[in-house]
Amino acid sequence: MLTDLKNKFQRGMVYLFAILASLLIAPFCVIRYLNGEVANAIVDLAIVIVALSSAIYTYRRSQATQLISNITALLYSSGAVAVAHLNEPNFVFWLFPALIANFFLLSAKAGLIANSFTIAAILPIALHLNNTTEAFAMIASLLMCGSMAYVFALLTHRQQLLLQNIATQDALTGLGNRRAMDEEMRLSMADFARKQTPVTLIVLDLDFFKMVNDKFGHNTGDVVLVELANLLSKRIRKTDRVFRFGGEEFVVIARNTVISDALIIAEQLRVQIEIELNDPDGALTASFGCAELLPDETLEEWFIRADKAVYQAKQQGRNCVVAAD
Ligand code: GH3
Ligand code: MG
Ligand code: MG
Repeated sequence: MLTDLKNKFQRGMVYLFAILASLLIAPFCVIRYLNGEVANAIVDLAIVIVALSSAIYTYRRSQATQLISNITALLYSSGAVAVAHLNEPNFVFWLFPALIANFFLLSAKAGLIANSFTIAAILPIALHLNNTTEAFAMIASLLMCGSMAYVFALLTHRQQLLLQNIATQDALTGLGNRRAMDEEMRLSMADFARKQTPVTLIVLDLDFFKMVNDKFGHNTGDVVLVELANLLSKRIRKTDRVFRFGGEEFVVIARNTVISDALIIAEQLRVQIEIELNDPDGALTASFGCAELLPDETLEEWFIRADKAVYQAKQQGRNCVVAAD
């Protein structure tokens, strides 16, 4: 999800840069050429051509690659530096948008490095100035712009992480939620399609959980759910991932695992729950359904088979493990 968000951002920047380059830099190619400033015209033309090619490439792939973002950032910065040097000292202002764009196109750290090089490349222009105050103002204003953009980029990154956590984490237990589970299922399905790596869903549902709430209150019910989440996180293998699907239903995605092995894992979890999970009245239990992903099965079909197996486990008297048909 975060990658999605970042990619949209980067894609937007590549398009925006192409539009701005066509509207604002392309006319300079002509004017510079007519004025006999061939070097300037060539720099401007190179920027416009690369910006447009990057945008077309990105549009065709319908996503921005990091390479294209890097090229755009490099082009933007080196173009601004070149224009500033060819027209010193006045055209240093082209650097300000470049300093900001770098943080949108690159990671905060890479943007910081790129901007340090960009500002360093401008130092000779500042040193050529006769007036020390002007030289200082030039460098200070660039540093201010760069630092502010850096802080903004860091904050944006932190907010994106926070947003991702809110969107993919279950607030009560801290486990991944249904959205995170869907994403993990899709990844494991892609793995299966590519390399035939088997994967099995283990779905479990607490038995008679409504009674816990009814007898001891919702808060006690919540504590039980958190304890179950901790127990599952502790007991599953490092390669497996556990999610809270909703209510008192949890899902383990057992990667690289065939149904026979998943049944053993589920049985171990069932026993652990029976031994360790309690309400004030005593032991709690859960019913399990396991379904190994079949070829050509959709995500929904796969999940429904596992869920039906849970239903069968309930029908068979609860506190047991059932393999899906
Ligand atoms: P079964 O053995 O057939 O699964 O019976 P059950 O009582 O567990 O199933 P049922 O679906 O009737 O009840 C599920 C209960 O889970 C009802 C609901 O109040 C409770 N529940 C769902 N989400 C939460 C939650 O976040 N906290 C608490 N405390 N209870 C929850
Ligand atoms: Mg239940
Ligand atoms: Mg339920």
